[in-house]
Amino acid sequence: MNIKIERTLTPKPKPPSDKLGFGQHFTDHMFVMDYTTGRGWHDPVIIPYSPLVIDPASLVFHYGQAVFEGLKAYRADDGRVLMFRPEKNFERLNASDERLCIPHIDVEQAIGALIELVKLDADWIPSAPGTSLYIRPFVIATEAVLGVRPSGSYKFIIILSPVGSYYPEGINPIKIFIEDKYVRAVRGGIGETKGSANYVSGMKGQAKAQAMGYSQVLWLDAIDRKYIEEVGAMNVFFKIDGELITPELSGSILPGITRDSVIKLASSWGVHVVERKISVFELFEAHEKGILEEAFGSGTAAVISPIGKFNWQDFKITVGDGDIGAFSRHVYDELTGIQYGKRPDKFGWVRVIE
Ligand SMILES: *Cc1c(COP(=O)(O)O)cnc(C)c1O
Repeated sequence: MNIKIERTLTPKPKPPSDKLGFGQHFTDHMFVMDYTTGRGWHDPVIIPYSPLVIDPASLVFHYGQAVFEGLKAYRADDGRVLMFRPEKNFERLNASDERLCIPHIDVEQAIGALIELVKLDADWIPSAPGTSLYIRPFVIATEAVLGVRPSGSYKFIIILSPVGSYYPEGINPIKIFIEDKYVRAVRGGIGETKGSANYVSGMKGQAKAQAMGYSQVLWLDAIDRKYIEEVGAMNVFFKIDGELITPELSGSILPGITRDSVIKLASSWGVHVVERKISVFELFEAHEKGILEEAFGSGTAAVISPIGKFNWQDFKITVGDGDIGAFSRHVYDELTGIQYGKRPDKFGWVRVIE
């Protein structure tokens, strides 16, 4: 792929590394490539970060034909720039594309474009502990037509955002509200994709939980309303009686790359990992019996997010002593150690960019 590069003439000042937050600052450049039926993907460019001019009739605004991804570039202590399993993100982007009738993108070409962009904006990658460069690739439908059908044109865009440490004050377990009115996704729908429309369906439940003092929602399945699916926009794990249990990929659960990495890591340590249905009843029963040892969410942003408390209807439980468990801590340390190039990369997950 021959990418035309137009450098900015007005580089922006970089925010201090203790004031980054999440997704609030964007680097100097972005990658853009267009798709038109008949021509395929064409005109890949890296240009100064700037607003887009898009027809108000574009399909994306009306029917939500859009998908996204989320991954990170990390600055190692020795100055190298690393990425974690980026091919998995672009393979998943194509799986999302497939479900939303969006044309596929060549995985290696997309990674090549991403690497060029990250290299160009490499001085935006923060190096303070726990900070990273969040990468947001996305595709939007740009054909200006109000008929409900797949668009004939798209834009594939990658933007970059330096992000702060998720845990500036150390890892504090979160309080979770188990939602039994609203659902996030249903089997056969788009819950197993990173289709943008998934995230608006979760907002009402999330706002309700936050108003009650909880930080995230635990979503139950849409049919039986009892099987555990995900926690916020993270996959969920439970350590029960020595076993690591995570809901099986049922069709309405997002196949997280962190989830897959946790499964592979834990298995390599000899932990028995089980992917199966787990109901909210079983969770509360395990707590009753004293065998619910740990619970945590997994995702790119937080890596591991330990869960300290659950509320379901009138029942409230505390997991363990409410603090981060030893296993959760071990997984967090090992995964972040691999991502930042501090621990041996036994699985070949890390790509060195420069
Ligand atoms: C992105 C996402 C995850 C986590 O996926 P990772 O690849 O681990 O970042 C989990 N659940 C939902 C709904 C998501 O959107």
